Amino acid sequence: MAPSHPGDRIVLFDTTLRDGEQSPGAAMTLSAKLRVAKLLAAMGVDVLEAGFPVSSPQQADAVRQIVDELADTETVICALGRAHEADVRAAAEALGAGPKTRIHTFIATSDIHIAAKFSAPRFGATMAERRESVMRMAVDAVRQAKAHTDDVEFSAEDAGRTDHGFLCDVVAAAVEAGATTINIPDTTGYCTPADYAALFRAVQDCCDTSGVVLSTHCHDDLGLAVANTLAGVEAGARQVEVTVNGIGERAGNAPLEEVAMALRVRADRYGVTHGLDATKLGEASRLVSVVTGFAVPPNKSIVGANAFAHEAGIHQHGVLKDRQTYEILRAEEVGADAQGIRLGRHSGRHGLFSRLARLGVDVPEADRDGVYQRFVALADQKREIYDGDLRRLVDPAADAPERGFSLVALRVSTGSDEKPHAEVTLQDGATGELRVETASGDGPVDAIYRAIDGAAGRPHRLESYSIRALTKAADAAGEALVVVSDGPALAQGKATGTDILRASAEAYVRALNGLDADDHDEGGFVKEGIMASFDTV
Ligand code: MN
Repeated sequence: MAPSHPGDRIVLFDTTLRDGEQSPGAAMTLSAKLRVAKLLAAMGVDVLEAGFPVSSPQQADAVRQIVDELADTETVICALGRAHEADVRAAAEALGAGPKTRIHTFIATSDIHIAAKFSAPRFGATMAERRESVMRMAVDAVRQAKAHTDDVEFSAEDAGRTDHGFLCDVVAAAVEAGATTINIPDTTGYCTPADYAALFRAVQDCCDTSGVVLSTHCHDDLGLAVANTLAGVEAGARQVEVTVNGIGERAGNAPLEEVAMALRVRADRYGVTHGLDATKLGEASRLVSVVTGFAVPPNKSIVGANAFAHEAGIHQHGVLKDRQTYEILRAEEVGADAQGIRLGRHSGRHGLFSRLARLGVDVPEADRDGVYQRFVALADQKREIYDGDLRRLVDPAADAPERGFSLVALRVSTGSDEKPHAEVTLQDGATGELRVETASGDGPVDAIYRAIDGAAGRPHRLESYSIRALTKAADAAGEALVVVSDGPALAQGKATGTDILRASAEAYVRALNGLDADDHDEGGFVKEGIMASFDTV
């Protein structure tokens, strides 16, 4: 089967800010979106779906600002709208006169969706008539979008469960109306790789798609999003729609990092290229995790904390001798923590002393037995051993106290005729000093945060604060999530508890401690070691 598009370059279409942001609880602030957009553009993502402007004024504003912010880059900015006049108009207005813009319009094409969304008699009495209506709306929307920009993408929503014959009719009509990219999404994550490839073959068999780019958009409800995406590429797709960390509706989308690296590592099989600077994948993953509050599982492919960690002594020895024994790609290629060796109780002497050497600590042969004994004893108590632990292992005198501030006491008073007032006591972990500060604010949380600012006395900016109920009962625990920044560095703090003011205070103190932690990477974003410590209380 000849590909639909003669070029062998894959268009990377990132929808972290649209489909990704639709994940329950993943809403991002405007400044977070701008950070993510800038990083994705710098990484060489070809198309960035920035939002769904008709859905809210904030979405429209985010699209507008991203267009402005990225005007000097090569990245195409895309806005989504249903196949309705008002949606396409809102998308066009938000994109404005941006230099490289795309309107992405869609309509449901599966019988299940048509029956639910396009009811009789308004859209026709029979399914055949309703399909006619759908086709007409698709054509009208593509034409309307085309009046604003040449770059128009059309999606047949729930294509994965759409009758092949009707899918072909809709695609042919959209191409005829001027669509330049045709997306065939498996909206519900229902397809197997063979099913998904068959859709692409059917479309190419029944209509002339030689002048358009066919696109994948896969959901992970059955854990098949990446496999389906790659099957689509093998069957002729030349655009892939992906998100950082695979965030997205329900089980999420195909992850950018996994699709991009599968295509690159297995270029021998797929025969395509793309323009991603993969060395920023680690940074992108941490940024998206911090601004959404969605942790990355340690065993996550490419960007998980353990993705390049070899704890078993026999593996460590093999990797240190020749990395190819257990690695198919290098941590450095994807911007992962280059040390790559995680120390735990299964690590051998070889792993321990090579890690120490990397830290610039040369242990004389005579001391090695003693250091190794202390390491084994510590590994029995601690699941994971960090660089600071190692330094203390070698030089017990360097036993530094706990870093950062801890919240010792909190008192809040809210009267009916005065502003809420807070008194906080923080302990400085380095000196043991107690700092008491009081402040009033517009609300209790504002008062608490002002007091903590006074006690901590470090400049920073509050990027976002959110609180959500963890269960529905009134006495249930709430979770506070705080993101603070300090120039390029960004840190997150999370805390849970039935006392939501206390949780809000704890989360804020943890976020501030994150800014001061010494294991920021070069990009200034927090590392997973700090992330892991948030999930307490
Ligand atoms: Mn989707």
